[in-house]
Amino acid sequence: MYDIVIIGAGVVGGMIARTLAKYDINLCILEKENDVAMGATKANSAIVHAGFDAKEGSLKAKFNVRGSEMMEQVAAELGVKYKRNESLVVAFENERAEIEAIYERGLRNGVKGLSIIEKDELFALEPNLNPDLSCALLAKTGAIVCPYELCIAAVGNAMDNGADLKLDFEVVNIEKNGEVYVITAADGRTVEAKYVINSAGVYSDKIAAMTGDADFNVHPRRGEYMLLDKECGKFTQRTIFHTPTKMGKGILVSPTVDGNLLLGPTAVDMEDKDDTSTTSEGFNTIIDRSTDNANGIPFNKVITSFCGLRAVGSTGDFIIKSRNNVITLAGIESPGLSSAPAIAEYVEELLKEAGMNASLKTDFIPTRKPAHAFREMSLAEKNEIIKKDNRYGRIVCRCEGVTEGEIVEAIHQNPPASDVDGVKRRTRGGMGRCQGGFCSPIVVEILARELERHIDDITKFGKGSVLNYNKTKGDM
Ligand SMILES: Cc1cc2nc3c(=O)[nH]c(=O)nc-3n(C[C@H](O)[C@H](O)[C@H](O)COP(=O)(O)OP(=O)(O)OC[C@H]3O[C@@H](n4cnc5c(N)ncnc54)[C@H](O)[C@@H]3O)c2cc1C
Repeated sequence: MYDIVIIGAGVVGGMIARTLAKYDINLCILEKENDVAMGATKANSAIVHAGFDAKEGSLKAKFNVRGSEMMEQVAAELGVKYKRNESLVVAFENERAEIEAIYERGLRNGVKGLSIIEKDELFALEPNLNPDLSCALLAKTGAIVCPYELCIAAVGNAMDNGADLKLDFEVVNIEKNGEVYVITAADGRTVEAKYVINSAGVYSDKIAAMTGDADFNVHPRRGEYMLLDKECGKFTQRTIFHTPTKMGKGILVSPTVDGNLLLGPTAVDMEDKDDTSTTSEGFNTIIDRSTDNANGIPFNKVITSFCGLRAVGSTGDFIIKSRNNVITLAGIESPGLSSAPAIAEYVEELLKEAGMNASLKTDFIPTRKPAHAFREMSLAEKNEIIKKDNRYGRIVCRCEGVTEGEIVEAIHQNPPASDVDGVKRRTRGGMGRCQGGFCSPIVVEILARELERHIDDITKFGKGSVLNYNKTKGDM
């Protein structure tokens, strides 16, 4: 039996697992997909928001400001890239009042490093902006991080400290048997736990209902993106937002920590909790609205597009409850990534209030060594690592300069990569200009060899994503 079970291995569940792994407890994370970071965590804007957006007094405001303060250290401990690149909320002259209102709200939320800047200063900072803009809110604490890398590292750190991860474990029923929760998966497996943490993202209302809480609901709000080639990664230095609307923070233009340029997201309310398809309407909106912010965006350099689903809760705020040894985290839409470390800290407090009485481990390892990134090594480092293991001398992904050695590492680390996209998220192999066109077959071969599976059993991203290995010419 486990002391604590966490349902959902997104960045919120991952951060909670990492925070609780320092206690001497039996901890398990349950995830319905075949990898971690498969929900909103893998498809978002990747911004560590400064904290001026959310209404003062809300949980969103409280955890965003605290999470933003914590993020740099958390990322450093987990060996994850983080960059305090600052953010700008830009405005036309007729939107000036809104900028002043956001500035005032930011001050009330306790955000440091805010100022309103005028046109001259704005264009000195970011020359590629729309010339009709007249002022902006500058947030010095705005930052960027890689969200799925953060989640993978957090879960990995929890596992390195003894936590279990059960993948393909779709929770379909939760029953209380005395003091113990019995949690059942779609395939009939069960686990038992004293405490249950529900961090199931857009499905957190369904999990809450299994624990007898049907007080709220969560609906998905689609957000589509276009990602541009690394050639465009310096188009802006800062994250550029436009003044927000009631549907969200609008279309942003932002560099990513890996040096690409990101445009999006749209905001369209949906019913289907799994529909992450992209649409031509979405692309048109991104193109129209991002030109409000910037001038001459090189739209011909788009290398991929994707869509994430915000988990919009019916209360308008994060929904965080502790009842009968169940902690529910629902409606964790933006700024959920920024808030995740602070939410985890709060969950630790809630568990103590609920009676968790565990001692700290003496051998807890707070840090996680980043995986090798061959492309970032000096020539001397490259020579040294190839001498130790010649698999680092074989480039598999030519766009991103990813080696066989790094892919093998990703397959054997915690949490292990078991499909092509899992390797991609851990190594960046297949993330470049050709989007895996050249390297995917080699990645498949390496996965099959390392996992001792038949090549036909290696998928792109789990169930149903079969890769075709028939010949295209000659006998089939
Ligand atoms: C378009 C968009 C833009 C955003 N931009 C930002 C931003 O720039 N900055 C920011 O701070 N935040 C942003 N966010 C919000 C942020 O992405 C989320 O708040 C965060 O990723 C939520 O993490 P999570 O772990 O709660 O949810 P998820 O990442 O969705 O994880 C939930 C997990 O639960 C699993 N699960 C669901 N049901 C079950 C079940 N029955 N059994 C087992 N497992 C289950 C899912 O498979 C999933 O892996 C954005 C979100 C979107 C969609």
